[in-house]
Amino acid sequence: MSSFFSDKYKALTPYTPGEQPKERRFIKLNTNESPFPPSKKAQEYAAGAAESLQLYSDPTCAKLTAKVAEVLGVSPDEVLLTNGSDEILNFAFMAFCDEKTPACFPDITYGFYKVFGALNGIPYVEIPLREDFSINPADYFGARKTIFIANPNAPTGIALSRDTIEEILKQNPHNVVVVDEAYVDFGAESCVPLIHKYHNLLVTQTFSKSRSMAGARLGFGVACRELIADLNTIKYSTNPYNVNAMTLAAGLGTMEDEAYTQKNCQTVAENRVFLAKELAKLGFVQTPSMANFIFVKHPRVSGERIYAALREKGILVRHFTAPRIAQYNRITIGAREDMETLVRAMQEILEEEI
Ligand code: PMP
Repeated sequence: MSSFFSDKYKALTPYTPGEQPKERRFIKLNTNESPFPPSKKAQEYAAGAAESLQLYSDPTCAKLTAKVAEVLGVSPDEVLLTNGSDEILNFAFMAFCDEKTPACFPDITYGFYKVFGALNGIPYVEIPLREDFSINPADYFGARKTIFIANPNAPTGIALSRDTIEEILKQNPHNVVVVDEAYVDFGAESCVPLIHKYHNLLVTQTFSKSRSMAGARLGFGVACRELIADLNTIKYSTNPYNVNAMTLAAGLGTMEDEAYTQKNCQTVAENRVFLAKELAKLGFVQTPSMANFIFVKHPRVSGERIYAALREKGILVRHFTAPRIAQYNRITIGAREDMETLVRAMQEILEEEI
């Protein structure tokens, strides 16, 4: 740390992204990326946009915003595109939380919420999940805080129904409820249809998972126009050109190729069922995941040991060290072949360890 670093950030612990190793080829099941390449249309449009990179990107992101709005059945002024959904989540912390209105979220959830709270000097409360890692909706009734819920939750993959989230919205009419739907396309119910009924709802989604564009950094928020206007005030006060021109073009190609995205989501869901069944046969305990990952532990081998042994065999998964989940590993659902390789590796590890 330099002597120039502002006091306000000295205690900040940044988010730790999953490894992106370059020194060796791994089967990469650690950051919930898609095993499929981006849509051909996305690739073509991005290459076309590269020819005009001497110009700034459109700060209003008009074309893609209109397309996203059309596909979701909302109006363009109810959508805001951002540089990954991390950016809109940060905007939400900046716009809707402060000393008077702290944030709250589950004790086990997306690790970035805490970092956004700390970065922006916002107090936050972590609400413990139940023993089985499910959310107790009643814990959020009358919260008097800005609520952040990942649905499905990460790293558990457990989803709440739209009706349950509607109950949380009803019980918090004076606070914003942010529903982070990064993984919604793999089997959970989206809350986008509720935005016209609840003016305290912000839904965030990403192109990083179901839409195979993690490297392009594209996300968005959907909410009533007043909330979107607030978020735009933050955007135009930080970086008006927050989404680059190639990413905007690629996003348009992806949205014009919805059938490709849906087919990939279907394959991921099938591979999830396959992997869950095979690991259950080997004795793994798992949460009921609706996401593009599963969350597993073995009763006889530690999570850390399994993580390390898989790594030795060239397979990367995500291990967390927080006490409640230190026994677990989160495994991204990949291509069928990679799932089969993973199952064989797990069999060998268990034979060696038990
Ligand atoms: N929300 C959740 C729950 C996530 O797991 C992630 C991905 N790490 C994000 C949001 C952010 O994803 P991105 O910025 O790539 O859209």
